[in-house]
Amino acid sequence: MSELLSALDELAAIDLDELSPDGLLDLVAGLVTATNRMTAAVTRAVRAADRREAYDRDGAVSMKAWLRGSCRMDPAEATATVSTGRRLEQLPATAAAFADGAISAAHARVITKAMTPRRIAQAAEAGIDLDVTDSILADLARATAPNETGRGVAQWVAGVDPDGALDDAADTRRRFTMAPGLDGREHLRGEMDSVGGEYLHTALAALMNGDRPAGDPRGHAERQADALVALAKGALDGGTLPDVRGERPHVRVTIDWMALCAERGAPGVTGGRLAWAGPITPETARRLACDAGVARIITGPDGLPLDVGRAQRTASAAIRRAVELRDEHCVFAGCDALPEWCDVHHVVHWAHGGPTSCDNGALLCERHHTCCHEGGFTIRRDPGTGRWHTYRPDGTEVLSRAGP
Ligand SMILES: [Zn+2]
Ligand SMILES: [Zn+2]
Repeated sequence: MSELLSALDELAAIDLDELSPDGLLDLVAGLVTATNRMTAAVTRAVRAADRREAYDRDGAVSMKAWLRGSCRMDPAEATATVSTGRRLEQLPATAAAFADGAISAAHARVITKAMTPRRIAQAAEAGIDLDVTDSILADLARATAPNETGRGVAQWVAGVDPDGALDDAADTRRRFTMAPGLDGREHLRGEMDSVGGEYLHTALAALMNGDRPAGDPRGHAERQADALVALAKGALDGGTLPDVRGERPHVRVTIDWMALCAERGAPGVTGGRLAWAGPITPETARRLACDAGVARIITGPDGLPLDVGRAQRTASAAIRRAVELRDEHCVFAGCDALPEWCDVHHVVHWAHGGPTSCDNGALLCERHHTCCHEGGFTIRRDPGTGRWHTYRPDGTEVLSRAGP
């Protein structure tokens, strides 16, 4: 192990700028193979510890739990490592290709995932030799990318498990997880049966395609994610969700009074906090407290709540309707997102004395509401012409590319 570590130290000391392009490519290819070999070694060691229940020494309930707890491994990664290690024991050719570094963990997973004990038993009944299958798939994995290997694996599955497709159709299990990633963003993962997927697609498609603004630069994945958030916001605003502890469910932001009143980017200001997502910047907290059905808890210098309750500043339904009628769409330069996608922004934040009124309100889509709070953009309405103007953080005006 110490030799391996000193080899890694030498590797880290290489001056990459001194390598020729060919030298760099050789290095990358060599490292990919070495990484595959290392991952194979980890998988094999995990399997040995799993078989001998070594995790018990540290009081963990399973090898997966130990990997998560002691190695801080991602849960899905831990599950995959343990199960790949188990199944590779029956697949010597695939295990050898992995150990040589000729195939990656992704290849090994594609193969082992399909090789359930039930299918292996079915293959044996049908007279299909497991060793032959193992060699064929290992060769395929050596020559192709994991997704292509997956197609070969699917052919094997269709051969040994013709009912499998039917079983898959009868499988109505659904799973969906959300977890904060290392980057502080929320990571979604899951799968569901086709009927559940159909419901979700139908609802999301309605939100995505209903009235797409002209020149919308968002890609499919981005629009689908926005639609999912809109679905949740709509359900929260619509008041159709079951009560939680006797209260209508709503998003709740905790923000320090000083942070609420501070100027954008002021130093030494602590941010706010969301119940699920945790810490957020003061700018994001101010945006959430600006409008929408967001409840806020404002804390004093001692961290104790000064003011608790549903936001009074939420534009009342009548004011919102008036602002919608006047603005018709997001007022940010060049945006024509429709009112259902918009918040009513306080042009002068209520923390700075801005009233909740039609005059002080402006329709902003979520993206542009973020631009105005987190991004430092400002919007102003010319009382003479009634036209909205958008200014960059440096004070220059963003000229609308659509219309006069
Ligand atoms: Zn706002
Ligand atoms: Zn907008």
